[in-house]
Amino acid sequence: MDKITNFNNFKIQTSTNKNQTNSNEVKVELTQKPDEVVLSTAKDKKKLSTKQKVLIGIGTTLALLGAVGSVLLFTKSGKLKPAKFSEYIEFKPAETMEEAKRFAQENFKIKNYDLEDNLDMANWLNEGLTNLNNQFKGKAHMPRSVAFSKQLKENTPASMTPIFDELMLSKELYCKDLETARQEVEEAIKLVYIVEDGKEFFKPFNGLNSKALSEAISEYKRLMGDKNAKAIDWINLSLRLEDIAVAQTHPAHVLSELSKNEKCMEILKEENIPFNLAELYAKTKEEQKEFLKNIFAIINQKTKQCFHTNAPCRFDNPFNVIYHELGHLQQYKNRSFYSLIFKDLIDPNFTKDFSKQQIAQKISWYAQTSPDEFVAEIFTQMCNGKRIPDDAMDLYEKYYGACL
Ligand SMILES: [Zn+2]
Repeated sequence: MDKITNFNNFKIQTSTNKNQTNSNEVKVELTQKPDEVVLSTAKDKKKLSTKQKVLIGIGTTLALLGAVGSVLLFTKSGKLKPAKFSEYIEFKPAETMEEAKRFAQENFKIKNYDLEDNLDMANWLNEGLTNLNNQFKGKAHMPRSVAFSKQLKENTPASMTPIFDELMLSKELYCKDLETARQEVEEAIKLVYIVEDGKEFFKPFNGLNSKALSEAISEYKRLMGDKNAKAIDWINLSLRLEDIAVAQTHPAHVLSELSKNEKCMEILKEENIPFNLAELYAKTKEEQKEFLKNIFAIINQKTKQCFHTNAPCRFDNPFNVIYHELGHLQQYKNRSFYSLIFKDLIDPNFTKDFSKQQIAQKISWYAQTSPDEFVAEIFTQMCNGKRIPDDAMDLYEKYYGACL
């Protein structure tokens, strides 16, 4: 009998068959969604060819030429004018929604600020924006509008709308009550963490990232002992756990991590299985998944162990969702309207390019998924004061990443 547990954007399938000895007994299945807003209003997600996109773009551009000056549309920028907020702002949690709103309006000129009556959310957001502002000494651009969105399901925590500079936060995810948020985390934790006779055990699933998981479990223990823990704290922890699991289903990330594992590489050599990362990156996602499935069967059989990675989690800082979206905002502001429409044309071969994938892997698994996400992920790390490797920084600038 298999039990399916729905946990945010992933389904965890637990085998209840006691005799099964396979260490990979919990499988994670994902329905992960990107956080970017597409400028097109078309509901039909049918993929367009580059040529079709160009034709549509020319049509759109010509239609807009009459209304807006053509110069702005085609100018490739890269010279972002920094914002001019106070270099240092002190954050103090607001006691009322009015106070929180006033803080955002006075300090960051956020015109529309509607987080309903969710004061904890408003304080979390304001604190994140303040940290970010202080990190860049008031030069980072801020959204013009902040609101909940019913369209964003919980598998997409937030999104940033280009041109309108609107930060949207998923209502489904962020408006959960404390009890629901806590229970969801507990259900997920039970699947990977067991305490028996006072001893702790980590149950592997899909070769779960052990380092990031043990850090997330420390946060879980901290929250369990904190009487003042809020729904937002539990929601952030659920995103964190989810990211650890999602990373393991992203084949490019798993391939990169696998290549660093000497034991695994040794086994493949013994079995005469060629492992060439450059060639593997050039394959489709499906082919990569198939390859991984086959070699994991061999590795698991040989080692009777689960594969572990040491990659950090994207959401180890609870404000990273905000930093990531604001990273998109800085990049949007650093680009021409034209390049925003044809964002896929920045570098269509990014996901198949070995050297670029290797660079992106240093940042996060999500940075490997597209040039725009690469930029937003680097910005997140800059917000956390982390040093960015030079090669990653070069690519960041090439993809219109803002240097503030
Ligand atoms: Zn993003």
